[in-house]
Amino acid sequence: MAGTGMRKFGKQNIKLTQTESTAKLHKRLWKIVSEYSRRKDATGEYASCVTCGYHTHWKELQAGHFIRASKEYTKYFPNNIHAQCPTCNGQLRGNIRNYTQYMLKRYGENEVETMRYMSNKIKYTWTEEELNKLIDDYKNKLKEMGK
Ligand SMILES: [Zn+2]
Repeated sequence: MAGTGMRKFGKQNIKLTQTESTAKLHKRLWKIVSEYSRRKDATGEYASCVTCGYHTHWKELQAGHFIRASKEYTKYFPNNIHAQCPTCNGQLRGNIRNYTQYMLKRYGENEVETMRYMSNKIKYTWTEEELNKLIDDYKNKLKEMGK
């Protein structure tokens, strides 16, 4: 009896550890994606909110999703994340009407529709391997920008 209990406990422990490390990777990845998204369109250290034009230091801006971050498949897609001011990203919940106009102008209707389609069709769970690869990819993107 005691043995069964131990085995169960052991299994739970392993599951817990895996969930924790994936969560940590998501956190690490988001930190890099967020910096990249705020700096990719910056001139020097300054960037503009894509939905209201507010111009400030990139550190004062936030990385705002066009398709919300709860949609896993498009969560880290570079074209889905841009610099936004705290008002547009927070209080205005993304300022979606302006964000849609921005997206259509920058990427075109096809790209926007494809992103929407993918985000709705595909239920996705990131693996540790994929998260590690994305961390490397985004680190390289930042390096290429000379940041
Ligand atoms: Zn704004």
